[in-house]
Amino acid sequence: MAAMRLDRLYQGGAPDISIELFPPKTPEGVEGLFQTVEQLKRLKPAFFSMTYGAAGSTRDATLALCDRLKNQAGVETTCHLTVVGQSKAEVRENLAQLKRRGIYNVLALRGDPPAGDPTFKPHPDGFQTSVELIREARRDPWFAVAVSGFPEVHQEARDRAADIAYLKDKIAAGACVILTQLFFDNAYFLEFLDHVRRAGITAPVVPGILPILSVTQVRRFAALCGATIPPAVARELANYEQDDAGAARYGIELATRQCEGLLAAGVPGLHFYALNRPRSVEAVVQNLGLDKGRP
Ligand SMILES: Cc1cc2nc3c(=O)[nH]c(=O)nc-3n(C[C@H](O)[C@H](O)[C@H](O)COP(=O)(O)OP(=O)(O)OC[C@H]3O[C@@H](n4cnc5c(N)ncnc54)[C@H](O)[C@@H]3O)c2cc1C
Repeated sequence: MAAMRLDRLYQGGAPDISIELFPPKTPEGVEGLFQTVEQLKRLKPAFFSMTYGAAGSTRDATLALCDRLKNQAGVETTCHLTVVGQSKAEVRENLAQLKRRGIYNVLALRGDPPAGDPTFKPHPDGFQTSVELIREARRDPWFAVAVSGFPEVHQEARDRAADIAYLKDKIAAGACVILTQLFFDNAYFLEFLDHVRRAGITAPVVPGILPILSVTQVRRFAALCGATIPPAVARELANYEQDDAGAARYGIELATRQCEGLLAAGVPGLHFYALNRPRSVEAVVQNLGLDKGRP
């Protein structure tokens, strides 16, 4: 496997594809996940990323799954890490474990407060912000660090300007790429990109794409992260309330159209929220003619 550090990706040429997965709850789920990975490996993605559960709840699973992805499945791996609910010592131990396992790519996040708690409260002995985590990781040049970006403005930001100013701090702290929250109208992404560039941020900005799998699920995700479901998409979804197969077919069509528009606008990569399911991501990437991946 060629090393694909985040700080060497997105250099132009073919767009870099990445695929986000989450830790399954059961051993059967884990085996299913690795079947998904085997299938999606054929698309030659630049990396797979593994989420880190709310308030550090999947810590051991996330680290073990990243190890298996990198060292058994043989795919480039980016580990999501958060600071919420953890001491500095725990976060440092996560970084040390990743290094021991040969993993250098990290997506550095603050993380959401635990369910039912609307406000973020830093751990008394913990890092307070994503910026502190980025700085900590980047103290060691081993790590290459990605961060989140918010086309529709993060729910906790005072306004767009404050959100972009904070993003600028994350890049100044040593992050090299911005992976965005999902969105269903490219206009949000393009407007965000315009603000990012006007703020003098030159790092690659990679759109996050969710191929819709079911109506209930997309409504839940959109509500959780504050993504707008545009009226045209909402009208179409109403046809598939009880029909997941139909929703997934529409999801492939919508994601393909979104990606076509984004690629035409010159994005350097696409980050897919695969939800551990291979079919929709595979179909979208094939529709785009990007299934040959990197040479
Ligand atoms: C690609 C991607 C992957 C994700 N993966 C995970 C995951 O694996 N696990 C998980 O739990 N969550 C994940 N999330 C969600 C993430 O936890 C939420 O966005 C969370 O609400 C904030 O974490 P963050 O690192 O994105 O926040 P930050 O970017 O640190 O903060 C979010 C916004 O809040 C404001 N803000 C925060 N702190 C300050 C400050 N000190 N001063 C001023 N403004 C501030 C800024 O406007 C900032 O843009 C992911 C999000 C994305 C986009």
